[in-house]
Amino acid sequence: MSKRTVFQGAAPLVTQDSNTSFAIVLMEHLVVPTFVLDADRKVLIWNHACERLTGVPAKDIIGTRDQWRAFYDAPRFCLADFVATGQWEEIEKQYTVFEDPEDPSVGVHAENWCLMPRLGHRLYLAVDAGPIYDDAGALIAVVQTLRDMTDKKHAEDTLQRLASKDFLTSLGNRHTFDEALRFEWRRAQRQQTPISLLMLDADHFKGFNDTYGHVQGDDCLRAIAAVIAENACRAGDLAARYGGEEFTLLLPITDTKGAEAVAERIRAQVQSLAIPHQENPPGCVTISVGCATLIPTADGNAEELVHLADTALYKAKHGGRNRVETN
Ligand code: GH3
Ligand code: MG
Ligand code: MG
Repeated sequence: MSKRTVFQGAAPLVTQDSNTSFAIVLMEHLVVPTFVLDADRKVLIWNHACERLTGVPAKDIIGTRDQWRAFYDAPRFCLADFVATGQWEEIEKQYTVFEDPEDPSVGVHAENWCLMPRLGHRLYLAVDAGPIYDDAGALIAVVQTLRDMTDKKHAEDTLQRLASKDFLTSLGNRHTFDEALRFEWRRAQRQQTPISLLMLDADHFKGFNDTYGHVQGDDCLRAIAAVIAENACRAGDLAARYGGEEFTLLLPITDTKGAEAVAERIRAQVQSLAIPHQENPPGCVTISVGCATLIPTADGNAEELVHLADTALYKAKHGGRNRVETN
């Protein structure tokens, strides 16, 4: 078999036989956007599909370590660079999605948004990078393939948003609340921080519907929801519609005093909306709030917090409504 230097970069990079060079030509014409780094992280192959995807011509990049320029506006490793240097733990930090492989030497999969400076618009790329070793186990190259998942990602995000929101109020729905509660409960358990939950329920709301009709009832629920949402100020706070005319506000890393302050603010703001409600003694729409705070024990359950807030709400109702009670 004839031997010749296949790659012309800054220096001849690989000497291979004609079968190998045929395989390289095939790779260059492969419809899947692909690039290949050598063991020194220099670009060996930048195929035509990769040129089309990134807007970066192969001649600008072969023989350099400038692969990042196709994807980002500042130097950083691409997935293939992490694989070439064996920095598996870094991948998780740098990518939105990373499927932790059982054996990373077989290849890794990751996804993230890329700036794509040459295109001028972001793309959500799914990337796979696989190392190639010689018979002695030394790294020869890393092959990275790319897939443009931008449209799919947008569709998924829209679906996710729709599926997680309550249709009437645009607050989180019950499912979103359950997920957030589980997540924040575990975090509070690990970090031994207080987690608070408010349960908020419209007073005599059946009477409101009976007097003003269901359509006005819906408007009123939206107005209450807006007040609750305004008071979900911190990043981890989650306002949700728990069901019917009952809402929840999850307040991670919040103690009893803090939770009571938020609860009282919401109660007062709902009353000051001054929505007429003749079946309710104050003459306007009001809410009752049950407030609970816990630092989760090692064997504790998130349902404890819901139960405590629910019991406090019951107390608020029986104590005369339009009030905050704490458990
Ligand atoms: P309480 O002060 O004890 O909470 O009395 P309440 O009348 O609010 O409580 P009850 O549970 O008896 O009634 C809840 C009412 O909320 C009944 C139902 O018609 C109304 N409701 C539940 N979901 C909706 C909704 O989506 N839209 C409207 N307009 N009303 C709803
Ligand atoms: Mg009610
Ligand atoms: Mg209710």
